[in-house]
Amino acid sequence: MDLKSYIREVPDFPKPGIGFKDIMPLLQDKEAFRAAIDDLYEMVQGYDFDKIVAIESRGFILGGALANKMGVGFIPVRKKGKLPSEVISYTYQLEYGEDTLEMHEDSLVKGERVLILDDLLATGGTVSAAINMVSQLGASVVLVAFLIELKFLSGREKIKDYPIKSLIQF
Ligand code: AMP
Repeated sequence: MDLKSYIREVPDFPKPGIGFKDIMPLLQDKEAFRAAIDDLYEMVQGYDFDKIVAIESRGFILGGALANKMGVGFIPVRKKGKLPSEVISYTYQLEYGEDTLEMHEDSLVKGERVLILDDLLATGGTVSAAINMVSQLGASVVLVAFLIELKFLSGREKIKDYPIKSLIQF
């Protein structure tokens, strides 16, 4: 199945100059959604992990479905102020300003093995924040996986110490 054809490019969203990769057409189609999860499942075979850590918010849709199919736990990385219990946080620089992500501090225990998943790798700042927090909690990142990778932004460079896989490349 040509999953790439289910990704809609929306020009100038959320701001001028950004070509937004909209995965809603893929999620909306029962066969494409299932095929995407099946393909992600195949892509991560051979990596041994206890939990999937996924990033708000489209990462949750893919991460929840994949964790359930794999029979592993699911952990959300959320924007500041959304998680109800004790958190650890990481603040990182954006093009303009900064952003803070959080995880529950009891979501991982030392030595656990983790797959980090997001819908899209652009510059790599967001996923680096997730990697940093997983490491703070003493867990190890066995693979960083994406549905989509924007190769021209070279986000891989920022996370080159970890195995990285993506299903669809632009
Ligand atoms: P970055 O931190 O630059 O790697 O950006 C990755 C995060 O921002 C992911 O959580 C994506 O969902 C979102 N993102 C960045 N660029 C795009 C884009 N062109 N289309 C869709 N989502 C994007």
